[in-house]
Amino acid sequence: MAYEVLARKWRPAQFDDVVGQSHVTRTLKNAIESNRVAHAYLFVGPRGIGKTTLSRIFAKALNCLASDAPTVTPCGVCDLCREIAAGNSFDVLEIDGASNNGVDQVRDLRDQVQFAPAKGRFRIIIIDEVHMLSPSAFNALLKTLEEPPPHVKFIFATTEGDKIPPTIISRCQRFDLRRIHTALIVERLRVICEHEQVTITDDALLAVARGADGGMRDAQSALDQLISFKGDTLTEDDVLAVFGLVSRQSLETLAGHILTGGLADILRLVALFDSAGKDLRRLVAELLDHFRNLLVYQHVGGDAGSLDATPEQIHTLARQAEASDPARVLRVAEMLADTEGRLRHALNVRTLLETALIRCARASTTVTLEDVIKRLNAIRSAEPPPAAAAAAAPGPNPAARRQQYFDDPAVKRAMELFDGDVVGIEE
Ligand SMILES: [Zn+2]
Repeated sequence: MAYEVLARKWRPAQFDDVVGQSHVTRTLKNAIESNRVAHAYLFVGPRGIGKTTLSRIFAKALNCLASDAPTVTPCGVCDLCREIAAGNSFDVLEIDGASNNGVDQVRDLRDQVQFAPAKGRFRIIIIDEVHMLSPSAFNALLKTLEEPPPHVKFIFATTEGDKIPPTIISRCQRFDLRRIHTALIVERLRVICEHEQVTITDDALLAVARGADGGMRDAQSALDQLISFKGDTLTEDDVLAVFGLVSRQSLETLAGHILTGGLADILRLVALFDSAGKDLRRLVAELLDHFRNLLVYQHVGGDAGSLDATPEQIHTLARQAEASDPARVLRVAEMLADTEGRLRHALNVRTLLETALIRCARASTTVTLEDVIKRLNAIRSAEPPPAAAAAAAPGPNPAARRQQYFDDPAVKRAMELFDGDVVGIEE
C-alpha cells in the first residue's frame, strides 16, 4: 500500500476529533442538531490549524447518506462521505480562491449552484483562501450570497479575515479558529507515535509541537520528516537540530538566570546558542511564552486550562513562580514583548538580544516601590506603638528611626534607582 503522510492519515473525520477548536465544533454541532444551519460560514485562522478539515467534516455532516437528515456524526463510509473526504464529490465543490479569483470563475460558480445536488441534500461550495478573490469577483459572489438557492451552502476559509469585504462577512457566520495549544499538540502527537510505533521522548514531542507554533498540520509534517530522516527512535536533539530551537531545559535555565540577575550566565548562554546556530528571534518568542506562563501560574495556579504547558514545564513554572515576584515577572514579559517587535527589523540580532536580556535581568532584580513600602511597613509594625516607644527609655528617638529607614538596603537601592526621588518617608 502506498505511504500516506501522517497529516492525511490522521486527519480528523469527526467534529469530536478536531483538536483545540471546541468553541467552533460545539456551535456547528448545535446548529445541525437544532436544524439552524446558516447558508454561509466563514472560517478564519492561521494556516494548518484545521480550516479545510473542518469544512469537509461539516460538508459530510450536512450530506451524509447514512442518516435521514444532517447529522453531527457523519458515517464516513457512505458514497458521499467517502467522495467528500477524497475531495471529488459532485455535490461538494472545493475551490482554491488564489487560482480562481476572477469574476468569470465566480459567475461560473453562480451558474453551477443553480443545479440541484446529485446525491446529497445540499450543494456545498468550499472556497479556500477566499481573501484572494478580486473586488469584482467578490461583487459577483455577493449577489449569490444575498439570494442563495435553498439547496446551497457556502463555506469560506481564510488566513486573513481583515481582507474580506464587510458586505461578505455580514452575510456569513464567522468563526475564528485558534492556534492550537502546544500541550494539546503534544498529546495528539503522542497518540500518533504510539500507533506508528515510533519511540520518542516527551521533550522531543514538545520540541516538535514548539516548532510547529500552534499548527497541527505542520507538527505532523515535521514528525513525518523526522521519521524518514532519523528512523523510528527520536530524541529532543534530533528535533531541535531541525527547527533551530534551544532545548526546553536550556530555555528554562535562561529564564532562571533572568529571574536571579545572573548576567554572566545569560551572556554565556546567548553566546552558546548563537554559535550553535539557534534561531535567536524564536528564542525571544519562546522566552516570552515562558514568562507569560509564569504570570498565569502566579495568578491562577498550575491546574488552570489557561496554562499552555506540559507536566515537565509546569514543574519548572511552579518552582520559578514561587521564587519570583509577579510585578517583576510582568516587567520582564513586557520588555520581552517589546524586544520581540524590535528584533523583526534588527540587523544585529545577538547584540540587541544581549542588551534586552540584561535589561530584563536588571528589571527582575531591582527593588520595586512595592518592595520599599512592604519593607517600611515591616519595620513600622516591628516597632512598639508611639506611646509605648516614648515610655520606653532609652528607645531610638525620631531622628534615629528616620535614619534607620534610610539605612535599610532596600530603601538605598530604591533611592539609587529613582535618583533620590523615592517616597516621602515622613513619620
Ligand atoms: Zn456518510
